[in-house]
Amino acid sequence: MSLDLPTTGCRDVPVLKERGQREVFCGLTGIIWLHRKMPDSFFLVVGSRTCAHLLQAAAGVMIFAEPRFGTAILEEKDLAGLADANVELDREVARLIERRPDIRRLFLVGSCPSEVIKLDLARAAERLNAQHAGRVQVLNYSGSGIETTFTEGEDAALAAMVPALPSTEAAELLLVGALPDVVEDQMVALLTAMGVGPLRLLPARRIGDTAAIGPNTRYALIQPFLGATHSALQRRGASHIQAPFPFGEEGTTAWLKAIATSFGVSDELFEAVTAAPRARARKAVASQTATLTGKSIFFFPDSQLEIPLARFLARECGMRPLEVGTPYLHRELMAPELDLLPQTVLSEGQDVDLQLDRLALAAPDLTVCGLGLANPLESQGFTTKWAIELVFSPVHFYEQAGDLAGLFARPLRRKTLLEGQR
Ligand code: SF4
Repeated sequence: MSLDLPTTGCRDVPVLKERGQREVFCGLTGIIWLHRKMPDSFFLVVGSRTCAHLLQAAAGVMIFAEPRFGTAILEEKDLAGLADANVELDREVARLIERRPDIRRLFLVGSCPSEVIKLDLARAAERLNAQHAGRVQVLNYSGSGIETTFTEGEDAALAAMVPALPSTEAAELLLVGALPDVVEDQMVALLTAMGVGPLRLLPARRIGDTAAIGPNTRYALIQPFLGATHSALQRRGASHIQAPFPFGEEGTTAWLKAIATSFGVSDELFEAVTAAPRARARKAVASQTATLTGKSIFFFPDSQLEIPLARFLARECGMRPLEVGTPYLHRELMAPELDLLPQTVLSEGQDVDLQLDRLALAAPDLTVCGLGLANPLESQGFTTKWAIELVFSPVHFYEQAGDLAGLFARPLRRKTLLEGQR
């Protein structure tokens, strides 16, 4: 008798759960890409000078543009409870709205300091909404490093928007997650060519284009880190179209196919719309695989993109994932990805010292990690890829599949070049 164990599929693989020290950015980082998606929104971080420095450093280019985010600095007297932070916040918001009539939506973004002094930003948003009704919509969410890792900032922001969306009975498709405009246009063009629609986007580029939602809304998540938004949409009665995420040719095709099936698109039309971009994506990925095939890779938990990216790298690029770490494993959202991922070590959460020990034993060809770990690991001879770059770069859908593979091939090529010079 022989035991027939599947080599593909991680749905039932035991997960190593760790709850120790983490080395990740906080959720404020999401403001860097969200402010570009919603030009009539303003993100007001209620935080310390540290929070302001993080935003300025991460978004240095904003110095050349009209800022769409800022920090209401909590001074020592606020933190010591010697001043009424609510009164000061109301005054800062009134000044901002007076000075910037273009702002239609204001996010009050919580931080570690605002959490420590228990400043109730939900109540503040309610109060400010009443004060500025009809002029600006005020929402709140937390980007605090105590509660969130860097991609959870987007999740928290979108989840905060969902309860405020108007209701509808219309049968519409809602596409959820922030993408660079050029990639969003590609996605919309593919779905429109299949006759799928009406299409709505969350976040929409303008507050006036914001989707409505109801029991006939079907939605597809574009980003894998939107667990809270998913729950908020479920509470509004919308239905989720479950699929792998649109990374690489295979993931993009599976994501589009799930939507196409839900909207009754014929196989012939699906094939006609996707055949050419699929072929382009395969060719572009193939141009990178000589560098990637057979190489091992180790993911530290950072962006929640780890599982879909490991699936793409294993199945389309021939890489060998040795450990795939994720900050949180959302079983329901990840089920289609786990079914495709070749069996490997899965870890959730982080105890960074233990994980560094496992890394040393595994000795991978490439390590995906946060900025704080990358330099020390490089100095020890590991080749690294910054996880945050994968969130900032256009990597979704067919036309970006080759670039996505290239992001992993580049550090390996650089290493080969450097070794050649020694
Ligand atoms: S929210 Fe917390 S972790 Fe993030 S920059 Fe501010 S103090 Fe630092």
